Amino acid sequence: MAEDSKAIDFGGIQVCVRARPLNDREREGGFRNCISFDEATQQVVLSAVDRNTLLQLRGQTAKGYAFDRRYGPEHTSDNIYDDCVSHLVDNLFKGYNATVLAYGQTGSGKTLTMSGGKGIFGNSETGIIRRAAQHILAHVEAVQAKLKPGESISVRAYALELYNEELHDLSGKAQRQQGPAAAAAGPQDSEGGVRIAERPVGKDGRCIPEVVGVTMVEVADANSLVNFFAECFDNRAVAATKMNDRSSRSHAIYTVLINRTLVDVSEVGDKVRTVRVESRFNLVDLAGSERVKRSGVTGAAFKEAVHINGGLLALGNVIVALSGGHEDGPEGPEGDKAALLTTGGSGARSAAKKHIPYRDSKLTRLLQDSLGGSALTVLISCISSCEADFEETNSTLKYANRAC
Ligand code: ADP
Ligand code: MG
Repeated sequence: MAEDSKAIDFGGIQVCVRARPLNDREREGGFRNCISFDEATQQVVLSAVDRNTLLQLRGQTAKGYAFDRRYGPEHTSDNIYDDCVSHLVDNLFKGYNATVLAYGQTGSGKTLTMSGGKGIFGNSETGIIRRAAQHILAHVEAVQAKLKPGESISVRAYALELYNEELHDLSGKAQRQQGPAAAAAGPQDSEGGVRIAERPVGKDGRCIPEVVGVTMVEVADANSLVNFFAECFDNRAVAATKMNDRSSRSHAIYTVLINRTLVDVSEVGDKVRTVRVESRFNLVDLAGSERVKRSGVTGAAFKEAVHINGGLLALGNVIVALSGGHEDGPEGPEGDKAALLTTGGSGARSAAKKHIPYRDSKLTRLLQDSLGGSALTVLISCISSCEADFEETNSTLKYANRAC
């Protein structure tokens, strides 16, 4: 379970698993639990109670997958935040970029984990997004209290939905600008001009993808950031109910940008150097990972399935390429000041040395500078403990295991 002793390594991708309990419908239907944790091997063990049917059919025995951390029904998003996400926020203030991804089939707990809400047992949870917003603004206050003349810090945020390879601005402001009809219809669509553009960085002509045309809000306190993301969440829900639960088939990306201007007075002589540093934090509630049977799926539904799977497939390939070795050498947190003054938190810089297939989907392009290199990534793999979901759980564990 969520052991405290094991510190998370700096850099690379950390993978944890969160198993949701069976719900009333599943229990009443006679379904059983198929998940257990083996503390000795740090494995999540997937086994069907009725071996004669499920396992023998596949000719396999109970399967174990080892993960950095494992969370069961007794854990909350707060536990995951404290163990896996809190240090990412601390490192944003050292100039690093970070990404938290919630992956798993529809109904496995991605949204509960990221955005909070009421769980199966009726307990209400604070999601990771709210915790992160409060933590970030607490850091900002601490930084503000120590600003030297000429220094500054600002926080901006935006939220996007990626649906069928189209980007939609989730902010209510964007919809109000479009008028009441658009606001009622849900998130602004890409005709409103949200797109990915290449921004040149550094002197070597290297570019990183950047979202343009999205509504960015500047926030001064934790409540404003929490409220902004809550409004974006509601806008996504409006669109979901209007379009046959579109939220399970789209990716939601909540992004916080921290901009700092630092004055370095440590240079020899009277020289004072001003450095601008931008850190980016992406919190992503991914589309449901369930496999869509190709046969019989045509038209719009087929297009949608291909796009969702394409994004998750591309993400999986990027993660595997990144975790295939860290020869680019992510820097440790001790490199605090050096990181601020030299790398500026750009994860893509070192990742650029090795081919990472970021360009294969909009999802991976959007996350490019916050995945890999010196950026920190946490993949939260959400699974159902119900044996009826055996196949999907197995496929989620396999996907996540490739990233370890
Ligand atoms: P997803 O976003 O992956 O489709 P949700 O977060 O909407 O899944 O969760 C589906 C249902 O299961 C919701 O009613 C949610 O409250 C409940 N649930 C999910 N994970 C847990 C958990 N770990 N403990 C209790 N209830 C959970
Ligand atoms: Mg969801």
